[in-house]
Amino acid sequence: MLRNKISAAAGQESREYSQLQMLHGQLKGVFGRSGFYQRKWKGVIDEAVQVDKIRTLQDIERLPFTTKDELRLSQLELPPLGLHLGAPPNSIVRISSTSGTTGRPLYYALTPQDKLVVWESWKNVFEAAGIGPDDRTIFGLTMGGPYGSLYGAEALEWAHHCSIPAGSQTSSARFIQLIVDLKPTVIICITNFPMRLAQQLREAGIDPRSTGIRKFIVGGEPIRAVRGLIEEEWGAKVHDMMGIGESGMLWAECERRDGMHFIANDIVHMEYIDPETLKAAELEVGTTVELVFTHLRREACPLVRYRTHDLARITALQCTCGRTGPRIEPIGRSDDMIKVRGSSIFPSAVQSLLVTFGAPVTENFRILLPRGERKFSTPLKLVVGLSLVLAEDAVAPLRARLEAHLRDNLNARTEVSFVLSDDLGSALKGPMDRRNYFVDET
Ligand SMILES: [Zn+2]
Repeated sequence: MLRNKISAAAGQESREYSQLQMLHGQLKGVFGRSGFYQRKWKGVIDEAVQVDKIRTLQDIERLPFTTKDELRLSQLELPPLGLHLGAPPNSIVRISSTSGTTGRPLYYALTPQDKLVVWESWKNVFEAAGIGPDDRTIFGLTMGGPYGSLYGAEALEWAHHCSIPAGSQTSSARFIQLIVDLKPTVIICITNFPMRLAQQLREAGIDPRSTGIRKFIVGGEPIRAVRGLIEEEWGAKVHDMMGIGESGMLWAECERRDGMHFIANDIVHMEYIDPETLKAAELEVGTTVELVFTHLRREACPLVRYRTHDLARITALQCTCGRTGPRIEPIGRSDDMIKVRGSSIFPSAVQSLLVTFGAPVTENFRILLPRGERKFSTPLKLVVGLSLVLAEDAVAPLRARLEAHLRDNLNARTEVSFVLSDDLGSALKGPMDRRNYFVDET
């Protein structure tokens, strides 16, 4: 036992040493090549050599945060890739963009080395979740962020796994055909997709348990409410994962399936900050933290102390699988949070509750914000999409049941109105498009 503790401590020390070496290399490169950081760090780091004054990983706290707004301004100042470009333009092999946000998209450039790092980040997910050499994986993810779908399917192949790419354009009939013909064993998808797929399979006369799917690796939405349902329906295990648009995949559940491990020690340095004070948070079970990261080996679009605005709760500090460091459960984005009578509510939580409620309620909804405010004391007004037109006398009982379901789980009162899901409008974007949850009440 003692020996285990000593070797875990030694492992931690050598990991920190190697992270520090990578951090030095990254900061020197960033300072040398990026006008954005040269200007931003003026007075903090005057010469590249002073990067050596960052003697521990904690010393990075002397540098200022970087935000998405700064990157946007940087690209307006020097279009198209911005002042923060950290690699020669002719070394760029791919440019991805963020989608779904209003205004000008942000562009992210990658060099061959950057692509490799993103693939590595996916490989860490596959390893944590236990994808093996005999697995065949449908990559059915249309994931937000520039390093999502395309890279994941590529990474499967790069890691010598069999990948079956199936993007957002794949119809449910085609998806079912892939399952029947190719007999995949793993599906990587958005968290709420397996329950929809199960329903479609049943409508096609196929028992989800008969398909041979043994594992789902899911992300993009809260898992807590749906994990049990999916595992029961499919007889398969569900692993949660989380990526950050600007960086690739950083978190994934191990075989224990009990909170996500940080799986990217050689890809980014992760900081856990208190969302109120913005200082390093105490790492204790139950603490809410904001995730801030620094790339360790990124060339074209290096980010230093990047504020993700992703909030997470620490669920454990150790794991029997041997991985060290805190395990987390994501709880939403700080800029998506609304407060109703003091209760914090995240749109992603509302969506999960609609999914667990089931038909005819769909996952499509809007939150009406009084005068666009994020803090208020009136009930939370929701417009919820239905999959069919209800008889008039069925509306009130359904509304009462749904409002009770939401109140019990959100700890806040809601006022629900229904429309046919299709009428929520074609403007209603996918679940990762967070901004489209809100509508100002008129
Ligand atoms: Zn573990």
